[in-house]
Amino acid sequence: MVDAFIGLGSNLENPQEQVLLALTRLRAHKDIANLQVSSLYRSKPYGVTNQPDFTNAVAKFSTNLSALELLDLLQTIEQEHKRVRLIHWGPRTLDLDLLYYGNEFINNERLIVPHPQILLRAFVVIPLLEIAPDFKTPDGFLLRDIIPKLPKDDVEGLKVI
Ligand code: AMP
Repeated sequence: MVDAFIGLGSNLENPQEQVLLALTRLRAHKDIANLQVSSLYRSKPYGVTNQPDFTNAVAKFSTNLSALELLDLLQTIEQEHKRVRLIHWGPRTLDLDLLYYGNEFINNERLIVPHPQILLRAFVVIPLLEIAPDFKTPDGFLLRDIIPKLPKDDVEGLKVI
């Protein structure tokens, strides 16, 4: 079994429900165990700013799916939510990102792990630290040491729902 972290985000069609439904789906999956979830957070949109606020959360679980099988599962769940993605960084019904997969570094045409945007995103770092305060990244530093480097406005704008 490998410990994996995923990020969940939604800003369309009852975002909280989108996130909770995705978590229910993951919890019920036979190859996923010990699912832990952060609080749900509200965050300001990233990139394209004239769109609704996002609901975000991070989940941790153990799995015997390979990283690509897990990506397939995440993409299947996104499709089940009839994900709308008309523009990059635009509104979406559900976005699921594989953040960490054990201590692995993966870089192929479908998957980059650790997810390259983690260290820039308060809405990923803060919820992840809520469930794993002592989390060490695969390159061996404490994730919490990144907090002072996150954009201050993003950290302050992040609210537990
Ligand atoms: P986005 O919707 O902007 O999150 O991008 C989705 C695309 O990113 C898909 O085609 C995935 O194959 C690719 N991708 C690369 N690395 C990851 C990752 N760590 N988690 C989720 N999707 C990823």
